[in-house]
Amino acid sequence: MRAMVLEKSRAPLLMRERPTPAPAAGEILVEVAACGVCRTDLHVVDGELPNPKLPLIPGHEIVGRVAVLGAEVAGLAVGERIGVPWLGYTCGVCSYCRSGRENLCDRPLFTGYTRDGGYATHALADARYCFPLPERRDDAEIAPFLCAGLIGWRSYRMASAQGQGGYAEGAPPDALGLYGFGAAAHILAQIAAWQGRRVYAFTRRGDTEAQVFAKSLGAVWAGGSDEMPPEPLDAAIIFAPVGALVPLALKAVKKGGRVVCGGIHMSDIPSFPYRLLWEERHVVSVANLTRADAREFLDIVPQAGVKTEVTCYPLAAANDALADLREGRLQGAAVLIP
Ligand SMILES: [Zn+2]
Ligand SMILES: [Zn+2]
Repeated sequence: MRAMVLEKSRAPLLMRERPTPAPAAGEILVEVAACGVCRTDLHVVDGELPNPKLPLIPGHEIVGRVAVLGAEVAGLAVGERIGVPWLGYTCGVCSYCRSGRENLCDRPLFTGYTRDGGYATHALADARYCFPLPERRDDAEIAPFLCAGLIGWRSYRMASAQGQGGYAEGAPPDALGLYGFGAAAHILAQIAAWQGRRVYAFTRRGDTEAQVFAKSLGAVWAGGSDEMPPEPLDAAIIFAPVGALVPLALKAVKKGGRVVCGGIHMSDIPSFPYRLLWEERHVVSVANLTRADAREFLDIVPQAGVKTEVTCYPLAAANDALADLREGRLQGAAVLIP
C-alpha cells in the first residue's frame, strides 16, 4: 500500500510504500476510494494536538470498500461501501461509554490521530465504528460527511439543547449563526435551511466569495465575523479555530442563547465582560461524535438533499491540500483520491 505519512510534527507528509496490513479480529481492511481533509488534520500535522501516534497516517473522513474481513466481523461484506470516521474505538466500560456518551470515552482511539487513517490506498478499521454508505453518491462528495458533516450535526444538536439536561431536548434554533464557513458549515447550512431555520453566515471580513457561497446554500444573510447580524441569534456555532469569535458570538446571541464551539482546537479566548455571558447565555464545546449521531445524520442527509462542494487532490498532493486549507484558499472541502 501507499500512504502519506507524518513522521514528525510540523514536517511535510512523506509518501511511503508499506506492506498492506491484514485485519485483526474485529477489524476490516478498507480499500480507500476517497479521504476528506479536515481541519483537525491540520491541528495534528501542526503539532497543536498532544501525543499523536507517530509515524502516523492522518485522515478520518474515509470512504472506501471492504477489501478483507477480519475474524469475528459480523454484518459487513467484502465489496460493501463503507465510511470510517474520527471515532475509531471506545472502551465500552467507562462511565461515559455506559451512559451513552462514548464521544467522551476515557480510553478512545481516533482515526488519523491515535490510529492510522485514510491518507492511503488502504486502511484498517474497527468494524464496529464503520458505517455502511449509500451506493448512489460519488466517493469524493460523500467523504466530508464523515467528519465535517457529523461534527456540524452534533454541534447543531448541541445548539438546540435547552436547560439542564443539555442535549437534544429543545427545538432547533430559529436564527442560527455559523462562524467560519468551511466544510462543516457548508453542509450544516443546507440542513438548517431545509428545516426552515434562518442561517446567518459569518466569514473573514471582506471574504465576499465565501459570503456569496453561503447565500447560495441557503443563508439568509452573510457578513464579516465582526458584524452584528440583522436580528439577535438563538444560537451560534463557531467552526473557525479562532477564540476571539467567542465574545463576538456571545454578543450576537439573545438571552438564553447558546454559543457552541465545534472545533477540537482553538486559539485562546480573550477576556470579555461578564455581561456578555449574563442572562443565561451558554458557551459549550462539542467533542468527537457518537455512532448514534452518525446514524441520525446519515439518515437526514438524503432527506435534506445535501450537496457538497469538494476540491479533489491526488493522494501525493496531500501537503498541497493541507496548505490550501490552512490558507483559506478552499471553498467547501478538500478530498484526497488515492
Ligand atoms: Zn469508554
Ligand atoms: Zn475532522
